[in-house]
Amino acid sequence: MNEEDKSKKVKKKTKKKRCAKCNKKLGIVPFSCKCDNFFCAKCRMPEDHQCTFDWKKSYRDKLEKENPKIEADKVEKC
Ligand SMILES: [Zn+2]
Ligand SMILES: [Zn+2]
Repeated sequence: MNEEDKSKKVKKKTKKKRCAKCNKKLGIVPFSCKCDNFFCAKCRMPEDHQCTFDWKKSYRDKLEKENPKIEADKVEKC
């Protein structure tokens, strides 16, 4: 007897994703970006869609994680 539950189940329309920049219909595999938008192949680069994601910061953090400081002591002399 839960009428409310029934009304909540609204049929989800499978909307085809469109490029957030040029509104072009995207294929099966849209390019997603860190800024939570989807783009076509032309607009996927951050500089092509005025990306709002802080790439510089992310890049710096990534570098620091992947490249722990190389200690000069470890360089062996032959
Ligand atoms: Zn586009
Ligand atoms: Zn972006």
